[in-house]
Amino acid sequence: MVQLGHHVCLVERSRFPRRHLGESLSPGVLPLLETIGAREAVDAAGFRRVRRVYVKWDSDLQVREDVREQGLLVDRGDFDRILLERARALGVRVLQPAIVRECQSDNGGWRVNVDADGSAVQIHVDFLADASGRSAQIAGHVRRTGCRTLSLYAYWRGRDLPQEPRIEAGSDAWYWGVPLPEGAYNTLVFVDVKHFRAARSSSLTARFLDLLGRSGLMAACSDVHLDTPVLAADATPYLDEDSVTPSTIKVGDAALAIDPISSSGVQKAIQSALAAAVVANTLLLKPASRDNAMRFYKASLADASERHCRWAAGHYGSAAARIGGKFWEDRASHPESSPPSVDTPHAPVDARALSAARVELSRQLEFVELPCIDGDFVTVKPALRHPNLVSPAAYLGGWELAPLLQRLPAGSTPLQIARSWSDRIPLQSGLAIAGWLLNNGILVEVVSCAS
Ligand SMILES: Cc1cc2nc3c(=O)[nH]c(=O)nc-3n(C[C@H](O)[C@H](O)[C@H](O)COP(=O)(O)OP(=O)(O)OC[C@H]3O[C@@H](n4cnc5c(N)ncnc54)[C@H](O)[C@@H]3O)c2cc1C
Repeated sequence: MVQLGHHVCLVERSRFPRRHLGESLSPGVLPLLETIGAREAVDAAGFRRVRRVYVKWDSDLQVREDVREQGLLVDRGDFDRILLERARALGVRVLQPAIVRECQSDNGGWRVNVDADGSAVQIHVDFLADASGRSAQIAGHVRRTGCRTLSLYAYWRGRDLPQEPRIEAGSDAWYWGVPLPEGAYNTLVFVDVKHFRAARSSSLTARFLDLLGRSGLMAACSDVHLDTPVLAADATPYLDEDSVTPSTIKVGDAALAIDPISSSGVQKAIQSALAAAVVANTLLLKPASRDNAMRFYKASLADASERHCRWAAGHYGSAAARIGGKFWEDRASHPESSPPSVDTPHAPVDARALSAARVELSRQLEFVELPCIDGDFVTVKPALRHPNLVSPAAYLGGWELAPLLQRLPAGSTPLQIARSWSDRIPLQSGLAIAGWLLNNGILVEVVSCAS
């Protein structure tokens, strides 16, 4: 928001650095950090790159190797401090440690009561962004999108701790070991809330250690000790369906929590914050586009939630096939996980079809209006709606699709069509788009009527 020219005040409850979950960052995080100018500082911090991960999921223990080392293991205390320093450098006023106690609507804006390290501070704002994580400050309509899951976790120190992350599927739990910078090792056990509560027998620590002992996470460790108490965190995925109003927006986990199995909650939180800044900018400066801006934000969160649920269910399904049992079957068969009603063809493009077949637009194709981000605002763009697409598409590979499909040369091959676009987009992008249109049945072969 500050980069879009607004005055911003950020209120953070904790002193940094502090421990926080979300230490394994997916490859998409670094490019996002580039857009806010924080990548250099994160690179300079020297967080560990992930090359090897031990995985026991749909088969026996395997080592998965990423030679590009795209994932990162971070101390969230340090990582979050770098982001906060970047915000300060851009001109954000930071109150820390400070707790938002109450937000009252005030003349179209908000009066926010803050406890700033013991002193009461009142801030008047036009717009409120709630980024307080799972404890969201603004009431909403939260819909659970997956099985109720509890995570028990604790940090270890000592000699012989594993140096590589490890993920394991157990009989009715899954396990995650995350080696962190500075030699700590976080061990997480994910269990079903109902099942765990029903079997209340010994202390949390005893149950955690018992569960952990059924995995190989600490198998080769000796001379190690728990560095923290055993903690519990809700890991149930959800979507808040009231994520935006004309003067408020929720970002990150306050709006959408995805299943931790994807290890991309931080990426999703940054993505939602970037989109939220453009939405808020539109709500503040272009009231006529208000409804479209809100529609865009809700639809993009719902879309992300659905995609993640479907992916997670498929991933649990692969463990369910090996292990079986209620824990896995429940997670593999959540209603949100059902595949889209029509399959999207992902076949590679057939080079012959690109140059031989004469094509036209499918009769089932419609052009609809879709709110999209265009620069610093949400605007409405024409988009393609077709039964083979999960949702309407306005862009592909950064190129606007609808203008390309107006005035298509009649009876041409996809190759000729791509060439006809070459004054607007590079031929290679044109070919990729033509191939995608063909694969998705949006360009269809002209049926010859000749007898
Ligand atoms: C068990 C578990 C493991 C996970 N592991 C991963 C992982 O490895 N990788 C990954 O990408 N994601 C992971 N996630 C998800 C990830 O933790 C979250 O998606 C991500 O941290 C969300 O970021 P956020 O900024 O929205 O919320 P948070 O990170 O929760 O930040 C919210 C901030 O708001 C502050 N705050 C809260 N209330 C107030 C208040 N009233 N006043 C002032 N400040 C306040 C808090 O102090 C906090 O700093 C995991 C989640 C769980 C449950």
